[in-house]
Amino acid sequence: MNIILLGPPGAGKGTQAQRLFDRHGLRQLSTGDMLRAAVKAETPVGLQAKAVMAAGELVSDAIVSALIGDELDALGPGQGAIFDGYPRTAPQADALDAILAERGLRLDHVIELDVDEDALVERITGRFTCAACGKGYHDRFEQPVVAGTCDKCGGHDFKRRPDDNELTVRTRMAEYRAKTAPILPIYEARGIVSHIDGMAPIDTVTAAIEAIIAAG
Ligand code: AMP
Repeated sequence: MNIILLGPPGAGKGTQAQRLFDRHGLRQLSTGDMLRAAVKAETPVGLQAKAVMAAGELVSDAIVSALIGDELDALGPGQGAIFDGYPRTAPQADALDAILAERGLRLDHVIELDVDEDALVERITGRFTCAACGKGYHDRFEQPVVAGTCDKCGGHDFKRRPDDNELTVRTRMAEYRAKTAPILPIYEARGIVSHIDGMAPIDTVTAAIEAIIAAG
């Protein structure tokens, strides 16, 4: 099973992808995570992407599509994927069709998380993660039980994404509206799009996604 999770930054795609991995073994393919790893490792791709990402603009279609192809090839036999943050433009949607077809794979669902942008800005600018295990937290909505200590691994170091500031978040949302939302009709024409209220509690969103998967 292959699923695209669509929605503006902070809609909860990463959180839901993690849950789909835990429940169904579907592998999260997040181009944002791949690019952040490349930036950290200072690879040629990372060096090229760093300033673009810091500004909240989009990295080139060719770069992200190549990353996705490589990651798909690394999946186990028969293992499904959740595309998180990809495709983000019409050329990327075309590239994904070709990448899947070359490997004899197909898309089963495109799930869009509908959200309120102003509420999202608050959601995104407050988020942080444990530097050791990656568990996510939020200044207002989910602080560690013991301040300064990760609930999951006991770590004491936390980090924030450099692009999670209000100015960059607004740019990322504008990019979503201008370039990513317009790819929905491509998938609507194939009858594989579902919409979910992304402002609902996390468990409610998960249940809605499960219902879509169960319906086949
Ligand atoms: P994300 O973690 O998905 O919010 O992505 C963080 C940043 O990485 C974006 O603001 C873009 O600069 C870049 N990025 C991630 N995925 C893509 C993509 N599919 N196409 C272009 N740029 C991307």
